[in-house]
Amino acid sequence: MADDWKQKYLANLDRQERAEAAWQATETLLRQGLTRVALAAQGVDERLDQELDALRQAIRSGADVGQLERVIEGVADAVVRLDEQRSQQVASNPQALLIHWLDSLSLPRELRSRAKTLRHHFAEADDIRQMEQPLYELAELVNSALKPETGGGGGLIKRLFGSQGGTKASDRESGREDAGQQVLTNADPLLGEFCIQLLDTLSLPAALTEQVESLKDRLANGLAEHAIAPALHAIADLISTMRRQMEAENHELQDFLRQLTGRLQDLDQYLAGAKTHHRASVDSSRELDAVVQAQVRHIESSVDQAEDPQQLKAEIQQRLETILRHLDEHRESDEARQRQLEEQLEHLNQRVREMEKEGESLRQRLREKHEQAVRDPLTGLYNRLAYDERIVQEFARAKRYKQPLSLAVLDIDRFKRINDSYGHKAGDKALKIIADRVRNNLRETDFLARYGGEEFVIVMPETGLSDGLVAVEKLRKDVSQSQFHYQGTGVAITVSVGLAEMREDDNPETLFQRADRALYKAKDGGRDRTCVEEK
Ligand code: GH3
Ligand code: MG
Ligand code: MG
Repeated sequence: MADDWKQKYLANLDRQERAEAAWQATETLLRQGLTRVALAAQGVDERLDQELDALRQAIRSGADVGQLERVIEGVADAVVRLDEQRSQQVASNPQALLIHWLDSLSLPRELRSRAKTLRHHFAEADDIRQMEQPLYELAELVNSALKPETGGGGGLIKRLFGSQGGTKASDRESGREDAGQQVLTNADPLLGEFCIQLLDTLSLPAALTEQVESLKDRLANGLAEHAIAPALHAIADLISTMRRQMEAENHELQDFLRQLTGRLQDLDQYLAGAKTHHRASVDSSRELDAVVQAQVRHIESSVDQAEDPQQLKAEIQQRLETILRHLDEHRESDEARQRQLEEQLEHLNQRVREMEKEGESLRQRLREKHEQAVRDPLTGLYNRLAYDERIVQEFARAKRYKQPLSLAVLDIDRFKRINDSYGHKAGDKALKIIADRVRNNLRETDFLARYGGEEFVIVMPETGLSDGLVAVEKLRKDVSQSQFHYQGTGVAITVSVGLAEMREDDNPETLFQRADRALYKAKDGGRDRTCVEEK
């Protein structure tokens, strides 16, 4: 019995020892694995780097499992944030940005169907003017969600755009709600940034630059949750102003067209008048002719039958006077009609001259407005609208003449860092500098536009993939060699480029998508490089 017990005890001890050793080995592997993960993820993102440093530090100092767990939680958070930033990158148009953001809101049940409808409105909007109303509604929705009775409260912004689902999100959410008071008082930089990004992607016309800039300045310090609705409202107001300006322009154009129609009617009337005048003149000449002929015939017969030269003389005299009277009458009425016609003509000329002047100034204004509408006020480059117009033309031309056409999409690397470290104004300055640099590196025939935010497109007509690659590589290197100076510090900026050449079966969208895919490859491959999407 005693032996039995001893055996069992020793076996148990043995098992425990083995389990302990196995656990030790596992833990070592785990720590090694973590170190490798930490190294592999290094250099992707600043905040993640900090968390990874902390993790490696903890592993090295032999922190216990509880401590490790906390550090890993920090890393996970940074990864989630990074992932969200990536999905934000996808949202390079305002519609996608808003949908993405809407999806990330943690809304009380009773507001969800409203959100769904809104989502649909955003998805359907193919012009920013169509986003005005939905934006006001979104502001309303956010307001309702934040009212205490709807139970929205501090948990509205689920995980600062981009819920990652799963249990983690809900854990974090309840964590936030505990700190509810803090959420409401502290401005959240990401919320402000979301609004700034929304403004950037909207690319509002130059006429609104001042308002946009002052709004951005306000947003740059971040937004508290309760300030998000007013901010959305302010953005909707800007769209509304833009719409009203466009409508005013339309009215102006309509007025001009109405005037033009009026002038054309005048002209028509004049021509009708001239025709009547001509007809009357012909009629009256004919009449005169008849009168003269009749009088002459009378004279002839009088001459034939004349017996008394005195009587003949008197008769001829009378006939001649009749002819003269008719001639006078004819001339007078002709002159009167002529004068009337001339007056009408002068009046008409006057009005046509006025119209020409108005037309010219209207054309000038429209030219300026169009120029404003297709230019990006910050960099002076063409904007997305201009690109949309141009690519269709270049596409058609390349197809017609069977010429190659290449498209490059260029995105500034880690631009968010510039904004975060030096402020939005410095970011703007850097954008201008890069835009100039890129422009100076291109040929006359290339077309460069700011596609949105910190993204540019270059349309290269008559350029195949290999020539295109040489061109974009040259400008990419030039940008990376330039230093942007801010408050005495030199900051290096790099760009990543995606390049694609038009294929037989391409349309402007598919060509862009392929260039964009190449850009993603360039980003994934470590940035500051060009990737090519083979034909
Ligand atoms: P990546 O290398 O992956 O492209 O990183 P990134 O930081 O450049 O990319 P991300 O899309 O995360 O951030 C783009 C940033 O560019 C965020 C946005 O606020 C900023 N941005 C876009 N337009 C403007 C602008 O007009 N002025 C300023 N200052 N910043 C802008
Ligand atoms: Mg980008
Ligand atoms: Mg970028």
